[in-house]
Order: sequence, then C-alpha cells, then structure tokens
Amino acid sequence: MAGARRVLVVGGGIAGLTLAVALRRHGIDVDVAEIQPRWNVLGVGISLTGPTLRALKSIDLIDPCVAVSFGFDRIIFADATGREFDALRLPRLCGPDYPATVAIGRPALHDVLIRAAERLGVAVWLGTTASKLDQAGDAVEVTFSNGSRNSYDAVIGCDGAHSRVRNLVFGDPAARSFTGLAVWRATMPRSPDVECMQMFYGPHTKAGVNPHSRDEMFLFLVQPISSGDRLPPDRMHLLLLEQLGDFSGRVLEHARAHITDPAKVDYRPMDAFLLPPPWHRGHVAVIGDAAHTTTPHLATGAGIAIEDAVVLAEMLADGGPVPNIFERFVERRFARCRLVVETAVRLGEMEKDTSIPIQAHFDLMRSTFRKLAEPI
Ligand SMILES: Cc1cc2nc3c(=O)[nH]c(=O)nc-3n(C[C@H](O)[C@H](O)[C@H](O)COP(=O)(O)OP(=O)(O)OC[C@H]3O[C@@H](n4cnc5c(N)ncnc54)[C@H](O)[C@@H]3O)c2cc1C
Repeated sequence: MAGARRVLVVGGGIAGLTLAVALRRHGIDVDVAEIQPRWNVLGVGISLTGPTLRALKSIDLIDPCVAVSFGFDRIIFADATGREFDALRLPRLCGPDYPATVAIGRPALHDVLIRAAERLGVAVWLGTTASKLDQAGDAVEVTFSNGSRNSYDAVIGCDGAHSRVRNLVFGDPAARSFTGLAVWRATMPRSPDVECMQMFYGPHTKAGVNPHSRDEMFLFLVQPISSGDRLPPDRMHLLLLEQLGDFSGRVLEHARAHITDPAKVDYRPMDAFLLPPPWHRGHVAVIGDAAHTTTPHLATGAGIAIEDAVVLAEMLADGGPVPNIFERFVERRFARCRLVVETAVRLGEMEKDTSIPIQAHFDLMRSTFRKLAEPI
C-alpha cells in the first residue's frame, strides 16, 4: 500500500512541480498550492548538472529539458583577460546520448515541469497557500488562504528559502547565514565564442557566462559585499558594468555591449541555510530550498531539490507509515545536501580570500563533482 495516497505540495517551484510529477508517476494524487497569482519565473538561466539530469531521466523529463537547453561537456576557467588556464571535463552520467550538463532558461524549465504536471492530472491552484495545518491521527487537515479545507495523508513544503510551511511546523524562523556575497546576472544574445560555461577570475570578483540556448546566454558575476542592502533599480546596468571593469577579452566585451537595460539585470545577496534533521513533524515535511538553501557555486541547489523530489516520491510510493518514510528520507538525503551547501559556502569563502590559490578552488570543485556523481 502506498505510504500516502493524497499529497499536498505547497509551492510550485522547481522542487514542488518535480515532486508533483514524480508522485503522479507513482499513481499518487497530488494538489499543488502556489502563492503567486500567476507564474512569474525569473528570465535567467540555470545549470542542470549530470546528477540533476540523471534524476530528471528517472522521471522521464530529461528529453524535454535537453530539447530546450544547451548541452556541453566542460567548464573553461580563464583569467580576467579571457586567457584560458584550465578546464574541467564533465562525465556523461546519463550515457553517450546526453550531454554531461546543460544550461536552460528558468522559464523553459518551468514550462517542461508545468506541462508534465498538467498532463499527469496534477491540480495546481495559483494564488493559494496553506494557512493552517492541523495534524490529527494519520491525516493533515489543511485550511487554505481562500478559506477552503481539505485532508491529506502528507503535506510537503516546497515553498523555498523563506518557507512558511517550515515556520508553521518548526515554529521559529530558521537561522539563515548571510554569505557576504552577491550574484549579478543578465541575459543576452549568445556570443559564438561561448559553447560551454566559462568562468573568469578577476582580482576581486569572479565573472562567468553560460549558454542556455542556441540564441541566448547569461552572464553572472559574484561580488563580495558587506551588507545585503538593495541597490537603486534604475542604475543596475551601470553598477554591473562597473563590476566588469576589471575584465577584458572577447567574451566579456560582448557581454558588456549587451548590458544596457537596468530591468534586465538581476542582483541578489546570497544566504545559505541547512535545516538540521528532522525535516518533518508528523505528516508534514519540507524539501528543496525550504530545507537547504545554497549559493550557486556548484550550480546544484535546484539539482538537490530535484533529487529530493524524486527520492521522496519513490519512498512514499514504497509504502509504510508516513512519518517513518520522512525519517528515512532525511537519513538518505542529509549528508549529500550538506556536502553541497557547505562546499558551496566554502568556495565562496575562498573567493573572498585572495591569498588562496585558484588551483585550490578547482581541486575542491573537482573532488565534490566526483562525489556528487556517485549514485544517490
Ligand atoms: C543566483 C542563483 C543562481 C542559481 N543557479 C543555480 C544553478 O545554476 N543550478 C542549480 O541547480 N541551482 C541554482 N540555484 C539554486 C536554485 O535556484 C534553487 O535551489 C531552486 O530554485 C530551489 O527550488 P525550490 O522549488 O526549492 O524553491 P523555489 O525555486 O524558491 O520555489 C518556491 C516556490 O514556492 C512558492 N511559494 C513561496 N512561498 C509560498 C507559500 N507560502 N505558499 C505557496 N507557495 C509559496 C514560490 O512562489 C515558488 O514558486 C541558483 C540560485 C541562485 C540564487
């Protein structure tokens, strides 16, 4: 018997929609409550690394993702002038027919996930959240923000870094740590010189480009900062161009020429967070960024959210009491998620400390990617 026949997923982001798809593939009924009244997915790209593609393959989503993304097998490391000095070869974990890694526009990934969820009969309620969760026996009575009520065998909070489900269930807002870093991103036409992710190490900051379709790429820049203050919205492009002042070379010259619109520049100070086990109380659990928020240094935050979803759906389908499944789930996931969060934070710390040789960054990245390639 299934451990849960009826599940509420709170949050229709990457974790929530992947979980909904994975649960439906196991024949479990799923409702998704998404707080935004309409989809509003940030128009930048994201990397899906080998282990992430492997998880997507297990729920038949790799082909539609690969079809709308840009695949590659290596990451190039260069200095601030664009001179390549190292490269990381990435293994094809999904077999010779699939790239080692892809970059994909977030809206394109969202389209793949929402279409699959709808095709499988998931009910997605926009503009709705769970306001109250009452656990009684083996059920969770949910009161929604529109006043309606419903009963579920399990409720999974996939509502991101500022998770309300986490706060409802665990009380105090969880301690998050400010990393002292911010990421800038901007989308632009792909330069013909950009066939894979490229990173440029400058004296104070790290910049990079990532092609997420044949036509487009995104630029990113990681900057040490002392406070998480907001910046003036009308000057975002100028501030990013200032940060790029340390860099030269064809690729970043191309990028610079396309940073003209402040509305197309995204800037965000970065927090990191890891919820200590348990990740559940009774029949309510959290996964994805709600349980572990990481910086993009390993391009794997969404990856571990997707893996959480695939593994949890599989375990719920295997059956047994829901709280026991949640307990075994966190036992299976915690070390891997901690590896990602702690290594990403460590890589950020290393970027701030210019006395650490760049080679040490690569060694840490290489050894971590090797560990993450192991089966989950
Ligand atoms: C700058 C940056 C770059 C990144 N690059 C990468 C990358 O290249 N590769 C990678 O793997 N990861 C990357 N990540 C990490 C990745 O974006 C996150 O790990 C991923 O989005 C987590 O997915 P999630 O579904 O858990 O949370 P979210 O994506 O935050 O989704 C949460 C969803 O829940 C909804 N929601 C929120 N509150 C409620 C509520 N109360 N009720 C109902 N719904 C609610 C939100 O509207 C949203 O739809 C990056 C992150 C950052 C900040």
